[in-house]
Amino acid sequence: MFVELHTDGSKTNRFSVNLVERPSKVVVEPSGDQLFLHWDATVDDSDRLRRCIICSGDLYRERAFPQITGIVIVLAFSGGIAGIAGFLTTWVMFSVMFLVLLLDVAILIFNKPRLVCYECNTKFKETPIAPHFHPWDRHHADLITRSQN
Ligand SMILES: [Zn+2]
Repeated sequence: MFVELHTDGSKTNRFSVNLVERPSKVVVEPSGDQLFLHWDATVDDSDRLRRCIICSGDLYRERAFPQITGIVIVLAFSGGIAGIAGFLTTWVMFSVMFLVLLLDVAILIFNKPRLVCYECNTKFKETPIAPHFHPWDRHHADLITRSQN
């Protein structure tokens, strides 16, 4: 599993960790600091994450590249407009549409979901995700914010 630590919304340190070996501490890059991990009740019987191993907080599921899907929609839209307006020949238009479709399919295939902690924003990548995790939920985030204050 690949872990990215976030502070104030920006990526700070990262490390990779084996969910089967479960080392009690790791050295993070690039700062070289040691970090202690919480393994009590944070991993299930199938070696999948249940809670954050940094702060024991709740996790949500997130797609890695939501912003690229928007670009694909804009590309497809402008391709369609250019085709209708007659700037492009039918064959060019179909080629562009086909490329956009390929890009979209590639994103679907390579855009693996990851887990993110509600409390410390740590991102957990390249790890199997248990089916019970949901996308980010405002109600849940509000509950956590309220319990912290
Ligand atoms: Zn956390």
